[in-house]
Amino acid sequence: MKRKITIALDGPSGSGKSTIAKALSEKLDILYLDTGAMYRACGLKAEKSGISCKDEKGVMSFINDIDLKIVYSDGVQHTILDGEDVSKEIRRNEVSMLASDISALKCVRLKMVELQRQIAGEMSCVLDGRDIGTHVLPNADFKFFITASSDVRAERRKKELLFRGQEVSFETIKKEIEQRDFNDSHREFAPLRKADDAVEIDTSDMTPDEVLDKILAITGV
Ligand code: C5P
Repeated sequence: MKRKITIALDGPSGSGKSTIAKALSEKLDILYLDTGAMYRACGLKAEKSGISCKDEKGVMSFINDIDLKIVYSDGVQHTILDGEDVSKEIRRNEVSMLASDISALKCVRLKMVELQRQIAGEMSCVLDGRDIGTHVLPNADFKFFITASSDVRAERRKKELLFRGQEVSFETIKKEIEQRDFNDSHREFAPLRKADDAVEIDTSDMTPDEVLDKILAITGV
C-alpha cells in the first residue's frame, strides 16, 4: 500500500474488533495496533507494584516513566513491560478489569494516547480501542464502530479465555463485560462513544469474514 492510511475500529469489549483488526491489517499489509493491550499493561504494572488501579496518586507515581514498548515480530504485536514480554499475561481475565479501572484515569490516557499517536504517525495502521475515532485520531481515514449484543460478546469472550486455558462462567463474563461497558462509557475523559462520522456495524449475526468484506467494500482499499 503506497498511501499512508489509518483505520479506527472502536467498540465495546468482545464486539469482535480485534479479530477484524487483525484480519484487516493482514489483508492490507499494514500494522495492527491493539490499544487495549497498552491499558492492560498499565493495569498489570499497578498490580505488580501493589498499587490500586483506582488510586490516581499511586498510578501517577509510575505512569510517566512507565517502561512500556510495543514491538512487532512477524507482524504480531508484543507488549513489553519493564523489559519483559507480557503479551500472554495481560490476557488474564483479572487484568481486563484492572485495565478498565486504570484506563479511566486521565494521566494514564494522556500517556497512552501520546504513544498511540506516535506509532500511528509513522506508518499505515489499523487501531482498535474505545476512543480512537473520537479522540486519538479524529482525522482517521476510516472509522468503524463495532458492536454486538452482550450475550454474543460474553460467549465470544468465554471461548477466547477457554482457548487461552482459563475457564470462567458465562454469567461472570457477561457481568464483567457489562460492568466494563458502563465504566468505559461513563468515564469523564475520552469515554467509549461512536464518532459521529463512524460507520456502525452490529456483528451479532455476522461471521468475521462478512464483517471484513463489509469494511473492505466501504474503504475501497
Ligand atoms: O480491548 P480490551 O478489552 O483489551 O481493553 C481493555 C480495557 O482497556 C477496556 O475495557 C477499556 O477500559 C480500556 N481501553 C480504553 N481505551 C482504549 C482501549 C482499551 O479505555 N483505546
